[in-house]
Amino acid sequence: MSILEENIKRTELSEIGEFGLIDVLTKGIKLQNKSSVRGIGDDCAVLNYENQKVLVTKDLLIESVHFDLTYMPLKHLGYKAAVVNISDIIAMNGSPKQMIIGIGASNRFSVEALEEVYSGIFLACKNYGVDLVGGDTVSSQSGLVISVTCIGEAEESDIVYRDTAKKGDLVFVSGNLGAAYMGLMILEREKQAFKADPNMQPDLAGHDYILERQLKPEARMDILQLLKDTGVKPTAMIDISDGLASEILHICHQSKLGATLYEEKLPIDVTTDLVAKEFSIDPTTCALNGGEDYELLFTISQEDYEKVKDIKEIAAIGHMTEESSGVVLVSRSGTQVDITAQGWDAFLKKDRQ
Ligand code: ADP
Ligand code: MG
Repeated sequence: MSILEENIKRTELSEIGEFGLIDVLTKGIKLQNKSSVRGIGDDCAVLNYENQKVLVTKDLLIESVHFDLTYMPLKHLGYKAAVVNISDIIAMNGSPKQMIIGIGASNRFSVEALEEVYSGIFLACKNYGVDLVGGDTVSSQSGLVISVTCIGEAEESDIVYRDTAKKGDLVFVSGNLGAAYMGLMILEREKQAFKADPNMQPDLAGHDYILERQLKPEARMDILQLLKDTGVKPTAMIDISDGLASEILHICHQSKLGATLYEEKLPIDVTTDLVAKEFSIDPTTCALNGGEDYELLFTISQEDYEKVKDIKEIAAIGHMTEESSGVVLVSRSGTQVDITAQGWDAFLKKDRQ
């Protein structure tokens, strides 16, 4: 049974119309940020950022390309759509403050289904201190489209770009890598088994951690705070949405540098490691090319190492080098391999579905 059929009560979108739907989805919103002057209800939201710089980012998610509702619960979809945008603000060392949502839905979706999506969006907004201040609602011919714009703030001097790493800087990553991809592999496997035998119950036992990493990712706002507490500002930073390989290449190309990373230093959770082996995938490949981890990849100057070395949630995985040295991974056996951009891009992902 698919998620969409689980809703017992079903109100058709046509029964309440566009304005009715907007009312249902956005009722009871209370603005919490000083910069949110006016939210939903007029032609525009009004924001006031005074002396802060304003950070703006958008992601567009399309059903069957970026998400699959056969295993993605609608509430998780809303949560994830919001969090991946919040993660981009965090990756600039900023604070997320407002969100604007565009929804396109076909009549396959009920009012209750869209309310589920919104319950996830609201939970993310609550967890990260973000106000939902506007959006647009349209009908689509088929499928669900969610467009999220997140707006945040930062002091000009706090903003961290991708192009400002320096030669000799240490490369750090937060959390662990490859888990979300392994979660996806499990979900895909169970989907295929279900297609072959619809009476089969999905076997998801024992995979809670990697499934959560895929279905309910978090943005690492906590890491920014830990770094602030030590007084260290990264020299460059990016969030890992497309896999470590793709992201380190972005930092290297934009900073006009090379990097040497060490395979043995890559943080990989034990469950990721076990499941990767079960699928006959090299866990290092998962870490490099898996994607959707939403961890932070950042560089800090060597003199700051002492200040951050006791932070458990981050790991030093290498250092920045001259551009001519290339972007390489030193394997456990000591051989050097070039890191190439086999990123987890949207097209690759579609092919795998
Ligand atoms: P307009 O016709 O001026 O675009 P709408 O009727 O589309 O206005 O929207 C009315 C108000 O509801 C606006 O403040 C808009 O930002 C908000 N809104 C519309 N759709 C959504 C949505 N899906 N989520 C949140 N707010 C929305
Ligand atoms: Mg509108």
